[in-house]
Amino acid sequence: MIIVPLGVASATPTAVRHLPSVALWREGDVHLFDCGENAQMRMLQAGLKRSKIENILISHFDVDHFSGLIGLLSTLQLQRREKLLTIAGPKGIKEFVEWNINFAKIDLNFELKFVEVEEGFESERVVDEEEYYIEARPLNHTSFCIGYRFQEKDRPGKVDSEKAEALGITEDEQYKALKAGEDVELEDGTIVKSYDIVGHPRPGDSFAYITDTRYCPNAVKLAMNTNILYHEATFSESLADKAAETGHSTSADAARVANEAQTKLLVIAHFSARYTNPFVLLREARAKFFPAWLATELRPIYTNPAQEKGIVKQRVYLKEVDEKASSKGGPKKRSRGDKGDKKRFRKRKGSSDYKSRSRDDSSRRRKRRPDSQGYKKKNDDNNDQGSSRPPKHITPRTPFDNFDRF
Ligand SMILES: [Zn+2]
Repeated sequence: MIIVPLGVASATPTAVRHLPSVALWREGDVHLFDCGENAQMRMLQAGLKRSKIENILISHFDVDHFSGLIGLLSTLQLQRREKLLTIAGPKGIKEFVEWNINFAKIDLNFELKFVEVEEGFESERVVDEEEYYIEARPLNHTSFCIGYRFQEKDRPGKVDSEKAEALGITEDEQYKALKAGEDVELEDGTIVKSYDIVGHPRPGDSFAYITDTRYCPNAVKLAMNTNILYHEATFSESLADKAAETGHSTSADAARVANEAQTKLLVIAHFSARYTNPFVLLREARAKFFPAWLATELRPIYTNPAQEKGIVKQRVYLKEVDEKASSKGGPKKRSRGDKGDKKRFRKRKGSSDYKSRSRDDSSRRRKRRPDSQGYKKKNDDNNDQGSSRPPKHITPRTPFDNFDRF
């Protein structure tokens, strides 16, 4: 899974921060947690396809958390979406969306499925699919607010096919039964035990989205043993009073939840506009929990980088750059570069006008530098190793340079 923060501001956007929204990418689908203003544009900028949204999960009805919803639905309609879309949130979300759609006289092409939870609920699976589920629990804010946990279901262990074959398993049906935990009886009457062939179940990845809340035990329950806990940290400890009053967390509160839940990675977000530099908040969180990161808009966070291997395809290779350079006229440039080298190290003859000579020399040297050191070196490399040299990767300038894979 890949988590992409789309907006990390709190109630008011700033010049560089957008209203709250986080996209979770999994196996080509997108799940959107909150939908602040501009969430759909941020998705575009992140390289996330809006048509791939499966679920939208709204935490509560403070405007900053759902102000982008109607705009996004309108875009999906214009894109001629046909697939069902699930919207989960506090009771009232259905009425709000339907009223807006009717008011704007939009005739939706696609079906909306609403999952509403009422104040006073304890916990509920708002989405339950074959491979994952999304659990909701109430948090502690000034208004009714919900936290979410996205949990991949455990996958069955790997089948040791060599061992299975050696024991006489040949049919696909038999493999399936073993994988499902059933023992298989062979024709000669021998029984092959499932646990001999199948390894331990592989636990699924998990992500918790906790926003707009004071510290509360439900946040810990949602975040228990998650790969990533995305927790709000609106204020620093020096404004703990204000946090309590407005129903928010400090960065220390976020770290406390992370500690109690034993999450693998804490990511803090939902920064008050007063913090032009959120590193103050990160420092406080890190003092109490590590690893902790700042949510950076559009910067992806992997639940398990090894799992995502192969998704990123490098578009630029150093080799291509080299080939271009040599096709522009390799050998000629090279000989000129050699000459230049000789000249550069030529002994200066002791003579009359020292000052003007040295100025000439230094200006010549400046001009030649790209030739003698840049071009020549690359061409030499090419000559030494030919085109068989494995392509070297160029380091992307930003973490999202190569982020168009969705
Ligand atoms: Zn908020």
